[in-house]
Amino acid sequence: MSSVPRQYERQAQTFPTLSTEQIARIERHGRRRQTRRGELLYDQGTEAPSFFVVISGKVDVVRPHKDKEDPIIVLGPGQFTGEVNLVTGRRSLARARVIEEGEVLELDGDALRALVQTDSELSELFMRAFILRRVNLIQLGLGDAVLIGSHHSASTLRLREFLVRNGHPHNYVDVESDSDAEKILHHFGVGVEDVPVVICRGEVVLRNPTVEQVADCLGFNAAIDVESVHDLLVVGAGPAGLAAAVYGASEGLDVLVLETHAPGGQAGSSSKIENYLGFPTGISGQALAGRAFTQAQKFGARVAIARSAAKLRCTERPFAVQLSTGEVVHARSVVIASGVQYRKLPLARLAEFENAGVYYYVPADVLGVLKEPQVWSDEEVVVVGGGNSAGQAAVFLAGPPDPDSPDNLDNPVKNPVKPVNAKHVHMLVRSTGLAASMSRYLISRIESHPRITLRTETEIEALEGDGHLERVRWRCSRTGTVETHPIRHVFSMTGAVPNTVWVGSCVALDDIGFVKAGGEISSDELTAAHWPLRRPPYLLETSVPGVFAVGDVRAGSVKRCATAVGEGAMCVQMVHKSLAE
Ligand SMILES: Cc1cc2nc3c(=O)[nH]c(=O)nc-3n(C[C@H](O)[C@H](O)[C@H](O)COP(=O)(O)OP(=O)(O)OC[C@H]3O[C@@H](n4cnc5c(N)ncnc54)[C@H](O)[C@@H]3O)c2cc1C
Repeated sequence: MSSVPRQYERQAQTFPTLSTEQIARIERHGRRRQTRRGELLYDQGTEAPSFFVVISGKVDVVRPHKDKEDPIIVLGPGQFTGEVNLVTGRRSLARARVIEEGEVLELDGDALRALVQTDSELSELFMRAFILRRVNLIQLGLGDAVLIGSHHSASTLRLREFLVRNGHPHNYVDVESDSDAEKILHHFGVGVEDVPVVICRGEVVLRNPTVEQVADCLGFNAAIDVESVHDLLVVGAGPAGLAAAVYGASEGLDVLVLETHAPGGQAGSSSKIENYLGFPTGISGQALAGRAFTQAQKFGARVAIARSAAKLRCTERPFAVQLSTGEVVHARSVVIASGVQYRKLPLARLAEFENAGVYYYVPADVLGVLKEPQVWSDEEVVVVGGGNSAGQAAVFLAGPPDPDSPDNLDNPVKNPVKPVNAKHVHMLVRSTGLAASMSRYLISRIESHPRITLRTETEIEALEGDGHLERVRWRCSRTGTVETHPIRHVFSMTGAVPNTVWVGSCVALDDIGFVKAGGEISSDELTAAHWPLRRPPYLLETSVPGVFAVGDVRAGSVKRCATAVGEGAMCVQMVHKSLAE
């Protein structure tokens, strides 16, 4: 066991000092140059900033904020600049200024990526430091974005969720509770009636923006290359799509990934995934997704965030996919990894309360990854559904049976999530029990938890409230009892529908819209699709050669993180074969 206290060990990993031998290896990819006092190596908002190793002298890294600078770190000889944005190719969040003249070693983004792809020791050292630095920035709210909103507003939640799920450090100012909110709004020439407002780099003001506008303003995406023909276009950056991107790019394919919302898909909204191989104490979906996203880009895959596929044009060669922005991208093969979304409850006033009391995932402020988590100990909540995700949500929301017990949640990289400890969780299921739909380990936790009540054969009848959910009425069909409870939060996890509208009638689907692949496709369906080859479709290939389906969107797939990752990885071999035909 190391005798170094943990905070110092972490500090040493976050800001390591390179050895002379490591610096010599880096030097082969860059160039040395002199620096002078006061020189700006990069500023907040710099596109594609270089990577610098300090050889001599000192560099001060700060976050410009209003008229001042928040200190981040002073780097000395052997230390290096940068965080995750160097790998993802996004703009710089910080400013780096030389405060003591000397010498630096400079590498541009391509040279750095080439280095991390070929030198595994330096790759591990850089990637760990970059991820830890990003985690620190998120925890300290040291970013280039300010979101001003109200916790009563569904649009505010939508934008907070987008920034959090994309791991983008930002400050949140709530007009309901923050006395500075009006001053800030006034300074930027907007009013309370305009919230939610996003301010990018203290310059650009967006009133109630779409996530596409936020992504553009914060420079999430390089311009999509509409001229090139990519080897592989992956639609969806959930576990399946990210795995296809990691394996495709690491095996030399030119990969573009489109993602409507944020990397991680459904898994990204999971408080803790406990059955993913290699993480015996569990890992939050957000942490797993963040790592996979960085890994895909380390190998050179491009991931376009807040860019949705709107239409697959599968009769064209190369294939064409039209985006919701109107742009069209071309690729020689396509992987459909667009997953599923939760079914909606058939309730009259549902739309009024979506994101204002009704959620299809456990939102980030509930997860406690935002700076001001809501107080939950007075709240009773409802979870609807009898599957594993509903079970996980119930256990997570209820918190440890004994709130004072230590929980293994102290590692901010592995798990940035704190227990919620709701006052009580009512779990509503239509069936007579959980056995058929949920893993045994979750059933036992639910049954033994003092603050979870399982209500079988029970369905919500009505949602009530003014602007935000205030009351829930449910009925038990076995006893006929109807009850109304003052509950403000319902988590609805009642089965899934596939995200295949964009696929249209291009490929064979089953009768509920999941994509058929391999042996699932009947000979009649192949004939109807004019299957042109002598061979049958590969295991994960659809009724159109060169178009594959992986993960939850595939008919008959096992709806689990590990299987989605496995399918994403496997399909790359079939993509190679199909490209060679
Ligand atoms: C709350 C919760 C907890 C879970 N816990 C576990 C667990 O503990 N263990 C486990 O094994 N599994 C768990 N699961 C299931 C697991 O997360 C899924 O099986 C897995 O995420 C499926 O991965 P996928 O990539 O196939 O699809 P998804 O995760 O659904 O990802 C699909 C992605 O495609 C994007 N997309 C959709 N349409 C488009 C479009 N037109 N253009 C661009 N992008 C698009 C979506 O935004 C999404 O990011 C959980 C699921 C949930 C919801």
